[in-house]
Amino acid sequence: MIQVKGLNKWFGDHHVLRDIDLDVARGEVVVVVGPSGSGKSTLCRCLNRLETAGSGDILVDGVPAPVEGRELARLRADVGMVFQSFNLFQHKTVLENIVLAPMKVRGDGRAEAEASARRLLERVGIAEQAGKLPAQLSGGQQQRAAIARALAMRPKVMLFDEPTSALDPEMVGEVLEVMVRLAADGMTMVVVTHEMGFARRAADRVVFMDAGQIVETGEPGAFFEAPQTDRARDFLAKVL
Ligand code: ADP
Ligand code: MG
Repeated sequence: MIQVKGLNKWFGDHHVLRDIDLDVARGEVVVVVGPSGSGKSTLCRCLNRLETAGSGDILVDGVPAPVEGRELARLRADVGMVFQSFNLFQHKTVLENIVLAPMKVRGDGRAEAEASARRLLERVGIAEQAGKLPAQLSGGQQQRAAIARALAMRPKVMLFDEPTSALDPEMVGEVLEVMVRLAADGMTMVVVTHEMGFARRAADRVVFMDAGQIVETGEPGAFFEAPQTDRARDFLAKVL
């Protein structure tokens, strides 16, 4: 579903992604972990072209990431993204937040878009919040609304960049639960998170990044029980 080959990214002369190779199979859940500043967010942003790659190739579902216009809109629809800060439109209801892009980008009619939005809200467990403004929801509910909004575009891949890092601890579980179910339903997912419990439970593969490189990759059992590199061992000693 995703093929990254030789991806490099610079911000000025700061080399933040170094020769990244990463394949994500259809239906696979890859959890990306690593210290702050290691390039995890930049990698996600390159995957959906919020950032342009400095060099290298990124294919989504076999198609080279296009760079502009209608093609770019389609790529963004195929690759859903959920951020740490929920990024909902604050002056629109939850339902409006979800129907906006399907109507505008995909040209769905309102009735169809609303029916689909209500199904998605049901799926993430906040059907009764449809008519509220984001500020009237808890953080966990807002993040679940953001997940529903991303799913409304029927993406082929979902990227999550620290989706629970801004939440009060008691709300982390409800968001992870939605993600676990999404994974079980077969969604292809790339998840940046510090929630090692989620990684153990839901990841097919863990990718450990440090200083712009993929240092180690393995199944969660192997990665957590027997990390291969000093850098991964140091990292795990700090977070576990
Ligand atoms: P992570 O998500 O792993 O914490 P990031 O991808 O956010 O790491 O950042 C990787 C490196 O790139 C950091 O050194 C960060 O300061 C730098 N960086 C990220 N975004 C920008 C930007 N827009 N301009 C300049 N430097 C950036
Ligand atoms: Mg980040």
